[in-house]
Amino acid sequence: MIQIRNLSKSYDTLNGRVQALQDISLDIPERSIFGIIGSSGAGKSTLVRCLNMLEKPTEGKVLISEQDISTLSKTELRQKRQKISMIFQHFNLLQSRTVSGNIGFPLEIAGWDKTAIRKRVSELLPLVGLEDKADSYPSELSGGQKQRVGIARALATKPEVLLCDEATSALDPKTTSSILSILKDINQNLGLTIVIITHEMNVIKDICTHVAVLAESKCIEHGTVEEVFISP
Ligand code: ADP
Ligand code: ADP
Repeated sequence: MIQIRNLSKSYDTLNGRVQALQDISLDIPERSIFGIIGSSGAGKSTLVRCLNMLEKPTEGKVLISEQDISTLSKTELRQKRQKISMIFQHFNLLQSRTVSGNIGFPLEIAGWDKTAIRKRVSELLPLVGLEDKADSYPSELSGGQKQRVGIARALATKPEVLLCDEATSALDPKTTSSILSILKDINQNLGLTIVIITHEMNVIKDICTHVAVLAESKCIEHGTVEEVFISP
């Protein structure tokens, strides 16, 4: 469970202070698919960066498994980061590395040995249906295949939480639904909590169990998808 408590974040810029998030409190239940929707500039990316510990809140806190992440030591933070993975709109793959090389990359960083990496990569390839692309380069893949590499890479370290930042925004509707169905399988079969940042309503309606609506740095509504979007 991720607990966000009275989280505010402002940035100091040349033009003064920008309030990106104001007093956000949310519970992200374990094993949920939690959508965060809002228009551009609403604060979605800032919220995600606070969850993956790339950004420090100005006020408030984030608890993961009941632990306030601002109190973690450097070593604990590094360990915790392996439990929170991320996939991106533009995939962020290394162009000079094969599909296997990209999927195994976080494990190299984490210091795994070659044999263990090979074993883990060969478990991950079939999970995203890329067995026959192991030795291809990103430039040889479609957008959907690239995102499947991104998903496999994100799962490499066996995370508990998968953060998806506009992960389907660069994809056509058909490819979007195939990626969403992979995410749903991962949620159900591996028991991961998935947080999806999006500006697309369809994404929320298709797979999310819960949703929070952000507007102008505030959370204006949150609850299960039925509570928020399906009127009685
Ligand atoms: P969204 O992801 O919903 O588009 P962001 O979290 O990117 O929203 O941005 C929220 C607000 O914070 C915007 O007004 C944006 O300009 C501002 N902002 C985001 N990141 C920074 C930054 N690093 N420095 C200054 N302002 C920022
Ligand atoms: P690079 O693109 O960096 O040259 P490689 O293609 O050599 O990377 O592979 C990177 C890692 O993935 C290595 O640890 C390798 O053992 C593993 N690997 C390569 N091909 C496969 C495969 N078909 N199945 C499983 N693991 C593989």
